[in-house]
Amino acid sequence: MIARTVAIAPRARLMLDFDGTLAPIAERPALAEISPVTRATIEALSRLPHTTVAIISGRGLNDLAAKIAIPGLILAANHGLEIQGPDFHFVDQTALDSARDLLHLSNNIDKRTRSIAGVEIENKGLTASIHYRRAHDDDREKIAAIVAEAIVPFSDRFLLTSGKMIHEIRPRVDRHKGRAVRQILAQIGEPSDSILYIGDDDTDEDAFRELSSDPNAITIRVGEPNEQCRTAAGCSVDDPSAIAELLKHILMIRKADERYRKT
Ligand SMILES: [Mg+2]
Repeated sequence: MIARTVAIAPRARLMLDFDGTLAPIAERPALAEISPVTRATIEALSRLPHTTVAIISGRGLNDLAAKIAIPGLILAANHGLEIQGPDFHFVDQTALDSARDLLHLSNNIDKRTRSIAGVEIENKGLTASIHYRRAHDDDREKIAAIVAEAIVPFSDRFLLTSGKMIHEIRPRVDRHKGRAVRQILAQIGEPSDSILYIGDDDTDEDAFRELSSDPNAITIRVGEPNEQCRTAAGCSVDDPSAIAELLKHILMIRKADERYRKT
């Protein structure tokens, strides 16, 4: 039903998160991989007429581009602080201006967590992530406390958020995945007959909420929402393999429909 609605829309927009949505969550972020079949499906979808594919992620832009490895897509990186398309490139100026402070802050956290096994600090230029998936359960509170304490002197400039086994430091600007979605739709210029947004984490809730009043939008959350978060998504699926199947279906129907429309 979802596949068909998106597939037969004259102008379709597919907006997809990366980790936990297209690529299964890995022990370390560097190890997360999209399957060759899903990559081929997304590439084929993006080549169809009147079909836009955007990847919307918390990863940095170069990292995301290397992971997805499909030319010509729209990439929204660092939760939409940086958005790049085939003919445009946007970077949030305040985030850019805060990059030095962010480096200082993430180096500070790195120093203070070095003695705790399994913590990985990732400075992504405009935002920073503290991954603790591989840390011992008993150390989680300590890690959270160090991060919270380190950010205090910078709390006028930076915001602390959390997701799946991750703390994130983001500049205090009014940008999130929901704003990224709106900006991308505006950038496309033409009306959209169907917008599909799929994500798996709390940061995707901003996009679910942004699209919740749009009658042309379908929103899907991958996996169970956590206890604090009642999802704003319209529906949910179990895991990334269900998304891979959904995208394959959309491609199959849309390709067939394209041939039909031509004849
Ligand atoms: Mg995700």
